[in-house]
Amino acid sequence: MQEISPLAVAQQQLDMAAEKLNLDPNIHALLREPARVMEVNFPVRMDDGSVKVFKGYRAQHNNAIGPAKGGIRFHPQVTMEEVKALSMWMTFKCGVLGLPYGGGKGGVVVDPTTLSRSELERLSRAYIGAIAAIIGPEQDIPAPDVNTNPQIMAWMMDEFSKYKGGVTYPGVVTGKPIINGGSLGRSEATGRGCVIIIREAAKRLGIDLHKATAVIQGFGNVGSATARFLAKEGVKIIAIMEIDGGIYNQDGIDPEELLAYRAKNGTITSYPGTRPIDNEELFTLECDILVPAALENQITAANADRIKAKLIAEAANGPTTPEADEILMKKGRFLTPDILTNAGGVTVSYFEWVQNFMHYYWTADEVNSRLEQKMVEAFACIYQMSQEYKVGMRMAAYMFSLARLAEAIQSRGWA
Ligand code: GLU
Repeated sequence: MQEISPLAVAQQQLDMAAEKLNLDPNIHALLREPARVMEVNFPVRMDDGSVKVFKGYRAQHNNAIGPAKGGIRFHPQVTMEEVKALSMWMTFKCGVLGLPYGGGKGGVVVDPTTLSRSELERLSRAYIGAIAAIIGPEQDIPAPDVNTNPQIMAWMMDEFSKYKGGVTYPGVVTGKPIINGGSLGRSEATGRGCVIIIREAAKRLGIDLHKATAVIQGFGNVGSATARFLAKEGVKIIAIMEIDGGIYNQDGIDPEELLAYRAKNGTITSYPGTRPIDNEELFTLECDILVPAALENQITAANADRIKAKLIAEAANGPTTPEADEILMKKGRFLTPDILTNAGGVTVSYFEWVQNFMHYYWTADEVNSRLEQKMVEAFACIYQMSQEYKVGMRMAAYMFSLARLAEAIQSRGWA
């Protein structure tokens, strides 16, 4: 997966939008790399008494519009290049939604499934201790990403608060448990947002969701919530892929039942009434909607021309390479880009951060209706731009976000 550099992909996407906008070369150069990247090596005491040294990163791409914002992932394949790319995508994602942030991203090179709960806690705390000097509610606000969750955010908030002499800083991370200053609706916000974007796109494409079929790669936080909300809209989910294998059923898979099955059995692969499916077949299935909800570089020049889905909704960050984008465009596939499609997560993170400053908390209905409004508006704006400039949705999203950012950079006197 790492043969195609995610940073090269992010830079190529930026370069193309910069050319269309005739962007000032200094602004372009500034945005091709993060403003700041920290690499840390830190020790963690393991349960057997030994000490292991882990490597982690935090990248802050840009802060022209506001503090850096973005998740932290725990994954064995995390690299500095990947974290840099992910921080760039966060800048453009926040811009598409009009959030007052720049992009950030962090990662630790670790397979968290090999750790006990107490090792995971010590690792989370040690990582935050190592990057504490550069984060904070007004500087850089982490959140969950691949393999991190509300409990980990609670440990991180607690550790940062200790670092600050015991003053509790709920606004230093988002995606926290509700009791620690989390927002209602945050856990499922990314999936909810994805389905809002799918619904808006389906309207334009004339896809009737009650008759539509969907295929989902990934059944983690985002993939499973997307599956649940899609099923509620009447979409039939015919195939789902997880790390240890995929399942297919022409007549549809109930995501709620599948979640209950996994909670009991630890896997989805043996789910009754389905047959196994591999990644290659998954991407080329006859269906209306394809949702990549796993990692980067899944739709490439090697499989793009065999994709039959009418609508591809990028729930993951960076799942499609620029070569694949071009192939999909030529084939008339409609793609909603990651920086729009999966922006529901960071949008509700923004609501959480605002609530932390106000010390006043909204109801689930308030959160969800504000999310709905923001996502619908963002879709309409990017769609209109794509029609006006006759470009794909990804290019339109970059152009919109970049123009806004360039204005902020210029008026701050950085270019
Ligand atoms: N990790 C999520 C993303 O890639 C959420 C970031 C956030 O909430 O700050 O958008």
